[in-house]
Order: sequence, then C-alpha cells, then structure tokens
Amino acid sequence: MSVEIDKLTGAEIRERFLRFFEKQGHTIMPSSSLVPRNDPTVLLTTAGMQQMIPFFLGRETPPASRLASVQKCFRTTDIDAVGDERHLTFFEMMGNFSVGDYFKREAITWAWEILTKELNLPAELLYPTVHPDDDEAPQLWEEIAGKNRESITRLEDNWWGPPGASGPCGPDSEIYYDRGVEHGCGRADCAPGCECERFLEIWNLVFMQYFQDLDGNRTPLPRKNIDTGFGLERIALILQGKESVFDTDLFRPIIDKFAALAGVTYGHDHKADASLRVIADHGRALVFLAADGVLPSNEGRGYIFRRVLRRAVRHGKLLGLDKPFLAEAADTVIDLLKGHYSELAQQRDRIVEILSFEEKKFGQTLSAGLFLLNNLLEDLQKQEKYTIPGDDAFKLYDTHGFPLELTQEVAGERDFTVDTPGFERAMERQQERSRSTNVFVQGKDDPALDAILKRVGPTEFTGYQGVNGSGKIVGLVVDGQEVEMISAPQSALLILDSTPFYAESGGQVGDHGEIESALGMFQVQDTRKPIKGLIVHYGKINEGYLRVGDSVQCDVIAHRREDTMRNHSATHLLHKALRDLVGTSVEQRGSLVEPERLRFDFTCPRPLTAAELAHIDGQVNRWVRHNYPVTTRIMPIKEARATGAMALFGEKYEENVRVVSMGESIELCGGTHCASTGQIGLYVTTQETSVAAGIRRIEALTGRGAEEHFRQRSATVERVSSKLQSQPDLLESKVDQLVQDLAAAKRQIAQFQRERAQQQTATLAGQMHEVAGVPVVATGVDVPDDKVIREMGDMVLAKIGRPGVVVLAGLLDERVSLQVSVSPELTKRGLHAGKIAGVVGQKLGGKGGGRPESAQGGGKDKDQLGAALDLVTKFVKENIQ
Ligand code: ATP
Ligand code: MG
Repeated sequence: MSVEIDKLTGAEIRERFLRFFEKQGHTIMPSSSLVPRNDPTVLLTTAGMQQMIPFFLGRETPPASRLASVQKCFRTTDIDAVGDERHLTFFEMMGNFSVGDYFKREAITWAWEILTKELNLPAELLYPTVHPDDDEAPQLWEEIAGKNRESITRLEDNWWGPPGASGPCGPDSEIYYDRGVEHGCGRADCAPGCECERFLEIWNLVFMQYFQDLDGNRTPLPRKNIDTGFGLERIALILQGKESVFDTDLFRPIIDKFAALAGVTYGHDHKADASLRVIADHGRALVFLAADGVLPSNEGRGYIFRRVLRRAVRHGKLLGLDKPFLAEAADTVIDLLKGHYSELAQQRDRIVEILSFEEKKFGQTLSAGLFLLNNLLEDLQKQEKYTIPGDDAFKLYDTHGFPLELTQEVAGERDFTVDTPGFERAMERQQERSRSTNVFVQGKDDPALDAILKRVGPTEFTGYQGVNGSGKIVGLVVDGQEVEMISAPQSALLILDSTPFYAESGGQVGDHGEIESALGMFQVQDTRKPIKGLIVHYGKINEGYLRVGDSVQCDVIAHRREDTMRNHSATHLLHKALRDLVGTSVEQRGSLVEPERLRFDFTCPRPLTAAELAHIDGQVNRWVRHNYPVTTRIMPIKEARATGAMALFGEKYEENVRVVSMGESIELCGGTHCASTGQIGLYVTTQETSVAAGIRRIEALTGRGAEEHFRQRSATVERVSSKLQSQPDLLESKVDQLVQDLAAAKRQIAQFQRERAQQQTATLAGQMHEVAGVPVVATGVDVPDDKVIREMGDMVLAKIGRPGVVVLAGLLDERVSLQVSVSPELTKRGLHAGKIAGVVGQKLGGKGGGRPESAQGGGKDKDQLGAALDLVTKFVKENIQ
C-alpha cells in the first residue's frame, strides 16, 4: 500500500509540532536534562511528563496551564528491544500537557488535527485505542475522528498510574498507525496492541482524572490533567516511508558512519544490521548522556552509562571493530542533532574524551574477558550445566569490566543463564573486604610520593583563606605506583599543585570533600602529609576519569572544617586557661582536634577538682563571648619565643613559624582557626581523666557539639522527671527519697526471707533419714539467693538436735546452688563437707568444695538433681568411720 504523505525531516516535525501547540495557546518548555532535577527516585528522564510532575502534584506553579515540549528520554527498560524497528534507548518524545486546563475533548481534537491535517496522514490508517472502562474517549473518537466503535480497540494496558502507589492516574488512549499487512505477523487477530511491527504505537494521550490512594481507591481529581507522548523517531519513520527508526534522517548518517568504520554495508546481513543498530542507538544515547553530565561509574546512572557503552563495544567487536569507534562517531551524532540540542556542540570535547577513555578502558580487557567466558561456557557445556556460577560472573565484572547484564546477554545467546543471587553475594563479599581493609597503608606509597615531590616541589596550601579553590593534578598514585590516569571506582592518592584541603597535623584531622573536573569526581576521604611538603588527598574516584595535568575544582566539606576550627581555637583557649589556673607546669603533651570534639593532654601531677573544671569552662566561655579576633603572623622562631608564644615541648620548628594569637593566648600553630573567638559559640568540658603518670586529659565540645550535649542532657532530665512524676527542679530530692525508700524496702525483704527460711527449717529437718546411724537431710529448697541457703544449712543442722549431715539444693534461675553442712563430730569420722559438695556438684555438671564443716557448690544440670542428692547417702555409707 502506498500513500501520499508529507516527507518531513525530523527537524521539521519537531518544529510543526511545537508551532501547532503554540497556536493553541501552549507555552513551549525546553527539554529538561536526562538527569531529573529534584527527583532522587528516578535515575533518568523517561518521558516528557517527568519535568511536569511537580505541576501535576500541585507542588510547584507551572509557567502556564498549557505546556508543550520535545523531551530527551532514556529508557533502560527497552535496551533489549533495541534492534527491532521501533525501540530505542534514547529517543525524543514530543508532548502537550494540560495542568488542570483542557481535558479529553481538546487532547483528542488536536492530536487528530496534527496527524491528519498538519502531517497529512490518511485517517483510515490511524487506529485509536482506549481503556475498557473509559466510555468518554471512544465517544469522542467517534464524534471527532468519525471512527466507528468496532475500529476502536479496548486495551487493558491503556492505563497510566502509579503502580502500587498513591498519586494521580487515569485511562489513556494510544494511537496506532497501520503500516500494512506486509509488516504483520499474519495472524487473523492481529490488531493494535499486537507485538508485531504492523500496528505501530505513535502517540499516547493520558487522561489524568483520578487520584488513587494507597489502598487503591480512586476518587475523581478536582482538576484534571493531560499528558501526552508522541515519539519523534516513530512518526519520522512513517512520514519518511522507512522500514525502521534507524532508516530515518535522525539516524541514517549515524548508521552509515559506523558501517564505514566497520567496513560493512548496512542492509546486507541480518546479524550485522542488528549490531549496527545497537551501536548506532547506544552511541547516540551515550553522547546525550555525557552532554547532560552523566559520567561512567559503578553506581546509579553512571552504571547505566557504563553498561550501555560496554554493550556497544561488544557489538562493535561482533562487527570486527577492534579499535575505539564510539568517540570516532561522536562528531557525526553531535553534528546531526546539535541544531536542536546546542549542549551537544558546547560539550563536544568533553563528550569525545569521556567516550574514548571509557572505550579504551573496556577495550583493553574485553578480548581477555570474552575468551574466558567462551572457555567457561564450553566447560559448563561438557558438564551439561547451563548456569554460570555467580563467582565466575563476578570475576568477569571485577577483573574484566563485564557488567552483569552483558554476561547475561552473551550467555543468553547460547542458552545459558547466570546465577544472579550468587553474583550479588560475591559482590557483597568484596564490598565487605574493601570496607575492612584500610586503603591508606603508609609506607608502600612513599617511593612514588618521593618522586612526585622531587618533580613538582611542595604543595601550596590555600585553605587558610577558605574551603574552595582550584588546582592542577600533578600526581596520581594507585597501589604504590604512579599512574597517568584513574577511573571510577579506583582508590588512589591524588596530589595537586595547590589545595585548600588541610592535611592532618598539629593534632588537627585532615579535611574531607570533593575534587572535581569536567570528566571526573574524586571523593577525598582523608588528607595527610606523609612526607614533608607534600599534601596528599586519599580517596576514591566515584565518577569518570581524572588525569595528571587536569584542572580541578576543590570543595572541602565546609561544616566539617568549621566544626574542626571551632575545636582548634577552643584548644588554644583551654591551654591558656589551664596555665593561668594551675601554673606554667602545665605543658601540652598532645591533642586531637576533630569536627566532633577536642582532646587535650597536658602535664599535671593531680586530677583537677570539679571547682577547677567549672572555673576553666567559665574562663574559656568568657573569652569566647569577648570575641577576640584571631590573628596569624609568620615570624622568625626567635622572635616568636620572645613574645612568649607557647610551643610544643621537644618539637623541632622551622626558621620561620606561624604564630596564632587570640586574646591572651599566643601559640605556634599551623592549624586552621575561627576568625574570632565568638565563632566557637560555646565550650564545655565533658571529661577529665588520667592517661599516664603525671599526664591528664581533658575532652571537650564546642559549637554545635556543645549545644547538642546540653540539649540531650536536658532531654534526659525531662524524661527522667516525667517517669518519676516529678519536675526537673525537684528531681534531686525526689531521687534521694527514692534511694532511701529502696534501701528500706531491701532491708525488709531480707528480713522476710530470713523468716521464711526459718519456717522452712522445721519441715526440712523432718525429711531427715538415717544412714549408718547418721541423720542425713538431702533435699531441694525454695530460696531467693546463695546467701539465704548458706544460713539455712546451719539452721537445719541445729533443728535436728544431734550430729548430722545437711545438703540443701536451691533452684535458682539458671543453676542449682548447693550448701553442705556437717557437724564437727562427724568431720572427725570421715565425713567432709567439701568432698560431699565436690561429688554432688560434679553430678550437676558443675563443681563444689570448701571446709570440712561447711562447703558450697553448684551446677547447671537441673535434671540431675535427684541423682545428685542420692549420692549423699552413698557418700555417707562409704565414708563413715
Ligand atoms: P511501546 O509499547 O511501543 O514500547 P510505550 O507504551 O512504552 O511504547 P509510552 O510510554 O506511551 O510508550 O510513550 C509514549 C510514546 O513514546 C510512544 O507512543 C512512542 O511513540 C514513544 N516511545 C516509547 N518508547 C519508545 C522507545 N523505546 N523508542 C522510541 N520511541 C518510544
Ligand atoms: Mg515501552
């Protein structure tokens, strides 16, 4: 079937669409980024409505109630379908939106008008479909488009809404185009919605008319919305009379470029065509992802980038492309689409660089990985196993950069599957390992760092002025070796020519933060000076690439640094206050200045009293309130000493030193400090302890930490007061009262227990039996604790009134407690309480022992109690002389 329709280019279609809706009073919205703004739940934009969601939800005011756009979209879910005639990962979605303005009638009228009048598509080839529950839509299609009911297919799938969640939802109406029977599956029931290529879905009109709550109940929305999605590449396919989206002017130049690079002709070989389509789609998508700032990494959208690129590289290899080709073709993509997407031209260099780095990185290990995978599949086949073990899939990922999905794809082509849970377990194990090993092992990096210092000289520190700055990478070290480049997610040491990152020294911990270039992002987990003069950033590159020579932007985590500065300045004031109070015998012996707290060790022969500590806190806080400016000066060491500046005992200083003054405190110090003491906010000592003979330690908090400390203390007091049904001011007398009451109650209980034990003794004595003429009591008793049972032994013996043997077994919570008492007369005749306790205790799975007249013991085997007590009789029989 051949029909006369307008042959429009992709650019012309975009233009016509937007102008049409502009005429209907719509405001044109530029495409938003592929990286959704303010929506952490979505990795990449998948539809035109993504940027409209806040308007639909009423969270933000839209620029107008009628909007239209051509939106960049990326659908990871369609990646496996790429290669058919109509699915892409990256595509352009045209759309018109009504935020509580027009509804179904206008949406249908305008869609129909564009399709049949603006684009001249034959009405009889267009098939609207509707949701079975929607009675309005078919009526409107009948009225507006003259469609009869039978030609309108009702599809259950025509529903848009938050699956399993709460939010706006409603039926939709998908419009299909009949490409002719020659594209069809030939089945008698082939109709719109069929999976074959005959009926092509081109436009989806979503009628957002309900609100769905969490239980799935739907109520009509007071203000109804329209959201539509019209695929640009698909309509171009129809208007240009092409076989697939890849043959349209939006794609063909890209296909041709790759075909030329591979030395193949498109359209000659089915398998080669499929690979060409994959790399054309993926290559185009990667250019757009890179332009929107997505960098390869092992997580989130960076992982999607990596996965798409690596899949493309493998398909390139199937075509015989052994050299990097994606970066090579990036210019073709950019030139083709930069007219509408100016970011492509602006970011050209960056895009090309990222693609070529990532391609090179994977290209190096791809062949080895494929070889390994092939061998593995052959081995498994010999054993008639068709599942790749998780550990092997993980090894391919970890050593050869094969994303799991790539291994699955290669495996799937040969009817193998992958043990995905096993892969995930292997991944977790590795993450555990890397968490538990310290990446910053000193020593092994030193030779590389020495070489860097020799080459570039000492690092300039710019962090006294602020927490941001720019610099140039002058060295990178991985596993003790200097390297030219690092890529996500490598751990590395990074050295700059100048940096605002403070390196741990003088007790102050190193800064954390980020170092970023256009191509990569490095997370600084620590900063140190492992060799004099060289500031080293320790951390991990989370995204993209960094090279020696790259210019970077440095951002220290500001609140962390500021908290640390407060603690550092407070340490100086504390030092001064201690010397003023205790005397000049106080000397600093060490300090730790962290964001969370400060710790100060000093010489002092005795603990400080509570009154002294209160005095110190009062003094420091007075200086804080006084708000002395903090000044720093560089001067010769001699001059510094002459000012009375405090220096660390035994420390070697340079010729010129930095002197930090605040009020009466003057110290030699290289650390970072507040601008004035008032910024410390609040100081509180939390602990004073001993660390060694003659050395005391004070721990303290400032600023936010001190504030939090008091807040928590006061909350505890509030909670305790309310539990005791008292008030904070009365709490202390209330607690005194309770302590007294408790002591009295305990005394009473003890008294009662003793009385009860006494009452038991008569009964116990009555259980006596004679063994070889000796009265013996061996029985279980009900006692609250060991102490009472001890007293009872003698009481029972006394009750018997003549020389005898008493063995009492008390059943306590977890064990049996034994008391053995033997009258002195009988100890001379061979009956030893300690020995009896030993025998019985052992039977109970424990032990026993003691003096001849009185012994204790016990065990946990309560089941053995009867048998254990029987041993007493036996013992007496066998040992009595
Ligand atoms: P299909 O079922 O064909 O995958 P869909 O139902 O997922 O399409 P919608 O989510 O309704 O599509 O998206 C609106 C429009 O966007 C579609 O009508 C189509 O024109 C276009 N579109 C959707 N997915 C793709 C894709 N992967 N490649 C190209 N165009 C697409
Ligand atoms: Mg789809």
